[in-house]
Amino acid sequence: MASAMVEDQIKMSKETNPFESMMERFDRAAQLLNLDPDLYAVMRVPNRELKVYIPVRMDSGRMQVFEGFRVQHNFARGPAKGGIRYAPDVTIEEVRALAAWMTWKCAVVNVPFGGGKGGVICDPQQMSIGELERLTRRYAAELIDFIGPEKDVPAPDMNTNEQTMAWIMDTYSMHARHTVTAVVTGKPIDIGGSAGRREATGRGLLFVINEAIKRFKMAPPNTRVVVQGSGNVGGIGAQLLHEAGYKVIAISDINGGIYNPNGIDIPNAMAHLRATRSFEEYEGVERVSNEDLLEIECDVLVPAATENQIRSDNAKRIKCKVLAEGANGPTTAAADKILHDKGIFVIPDILANAGGVTVSYFEWVQDRMGYFWKENVVNERLQDVMVASFNDVVKYADQHGVDTRTAAYMLAIDRVAYDTRMRGIYA
Ligand code: GLU
Repeated sequence: MASAMVEDQIKMSKETNPFESMMERFDRAAQLLNLDPDLYAVMRVPNRELKVYIPVRMDSGRMQVFEGFRVQHNFARGPAKGGIRYAPDVTIEEVRALAAWMTWKCAVVNVPFGGGKGGVICDPQQMSIGELERLTRRYAAELIDFIGPEKDVPAPDMNTNEQTMAWIMDTYSMHARHTVTAVVTGKPIDIGGSAGRREATGRGLLFVINEAIKRFKMAPPNTRVVVQGSGNVGGIGAQLLHEAGYKVIAISDINGGIYNPNGIDIPNAMAHLRATRSFEEYEGVERVSNEDLLEIECDVLVPAATENQIRSDNAKRIKCKVLAEGANGPTTAAADKILHDKGIFVIPDILANAGGVTVSYFEWVQDRMGYFWKENVVNERLQDVMVASFNDVVKYADQHGVDTRTAAYMLAIDRVAYDTRMRGIYA
């Protein structure tokens, strides 16, 4: 009995290792594509992994040394691109998976970037703004030879934001002795950021959900949406879905969620969350845990929090028609088959949440031109990219008789493989 439990735990820890999850999908797609063994050998590993130790003078006067990573997964199609996350449980394995996902994501939406990701092991909730600034600047200084508009372009991710990007841009610029706005994206608008970047991931989600519900002959007013997470992706996504007429019936933050089958007034609930930092006192709703929220019957489920939310142990209880993955890696590879057997239409993360990096690409272009576009232009171009990419993935899935996640991976891997083959491998 005890050993069966241990076995289950081992199985689950393998299942929830994000790198394994990514590789399982990669291997399957590579096999279906009949990927050349040399290309396979090169593409299955990251190009470069950096590990840095970051000394920070804490407010107490003591020095604390933090550990940070930057994984540059692939450069075949352009500079590495991807966010930086700050969290106590960041691991190199997680960052490696996230970097690979960026490579595939950029290829799915066909922007000229490779993939990268950074992470620093720290607890930003426990740190002062001054400590966070010093941490960020020293981390940027450690990476100085490896980042840059033509090399690797970081962006925000979990627990980092426009301010973090402004500090990185400034630190890099101080060393370069001139202002280099295009070294990061997701900056404040006044210092080279793009209109619409903050909302881009949520807006991209809205565009692909709009396409997906057409397949079910549904329209926003009769489409019930459940959103896990209320940060930059979930919070803004829920707000935009609400504005577009969708009925958002549940939403959560890290501490739990709220549910009302008749729909939640999202602007009001979000204002409450901003004011009280919690949904706890919000009235006229039922409370649900983050686990239970995923199992609410709905039309569209949007996991927009973190990895490994839908696993082999809860996938069979998911009751949605469309799964739109706002987070990176919210579904484990083992859960894919269960969702597929249930007939759930999956908009995989590398497509569903690609709106952020798409507008990051627009920001990088605008910085390099020194000419900035109006928000409606950004949003229209984002819509074009998201709708075209959605159709590319669905068409690919139909043509090859595979599910949409496999199709997205195949499409991405095929594009990266094609470009790698054209460039040739410098070996
Ligand atoms: N962190 C975001 C993501 O996972 C955005 C990355 C970027 O804009 O470079 O897609």
